Amino acid sequence: MTQNVIEVNGVSKAFGGVQANKDISLTVPDGKITGLIGPNGSGKTTLFNSIVGYHPIDEGSIRFEGREISKLRVQQIARLGLLRTFQQTRIFKNMNCVENMLIAVPHRKMTMLDMFDRANPEEMERAEMLLEFVGLYSKRKLTAGSLSFGQQKLLEFAMALMNEPKVLLLDEPTAGINPTLINGLIDRLKKANSEFGITLLIIEHNMRVIMNMADTIYCLAHGKMLASGTPEDIQNDQRVIDAYLGA
Ligand code: ADP
Repeated sequence: MTQNVIEVNGVSKAFGGVQANKDISLTVPDGKITGLIGPNGSGKTTLFNSIVGYHPIDEGSIRFEGREISKLRVQQIARLGLLRTFQQTRIFKNMNCVENMLIAVPHRKMTMLDMFDRANPEEMERAEMLLEFVGLYSKRKLTAGSLSFGQQKLLEFAMALMNEPKVLLLDEPTAGINPTLINGLIDRLKKANSEFGITLLIIEHNMRVIMNMADTIYCLAHGKMLASGTPEDIQNDQRVIDAYLGA
């Protein structure tokens, strides 16, 4: 039986008078790809931020591998193996790809000089293997700022993989990426799931992408859970269609 790695139960979160999430429940099964969709402002990012400990929740519970994590801080949650990426890339543009990969490992408490002098050979090997995995090996010595936006997203994805996450929360991984690069990115995400066994929870606006990738999709509207089901269920759900049409 598939276990749920994340269990969100009755979560609510308000910002002043804005009820960003109201009584949200969802589960993320181990080893699967779960999608989170909904119109702008429906509460997707707020839910991500709550799961990774970016802000406290007002009500409800969030479990990771059966353990309550809603009172833990971001770094504590990251150490358990639950990581997120952001819509905007967070790379160091003046550093090369390998350096970005090495700096992505947060347990390092060294200075930059220490880092590159004493780069642990296993980490270096892992960095190069993952750059190969995302198709950036030949660009490993180039500064991250010289890469295209899509390549920067791939680098950021590889940086997240440096931490060997069990679960990765991806916030609009294909946003702003040239359509010709999107298929390559989808392939890499699917492979990270199938070959490295990383469970994925993905916010995605591109319906073609999420319908093609996810095993299960949850749809939020106005801060509440509107619908959930297989991509086929969701595509044919009149409530979802109405929400997107603003009905
Ligand atoms: P989505 O990711 O689906 O676009 P968000 O979670 O970003 O939705 O936003 C849900 C609602 O919460 C919106 O009305 C947004 O303006 C509000 N909101 C989100 N974060 C904050 C914040 N830090 N302060 C005030 N309001 C916020």
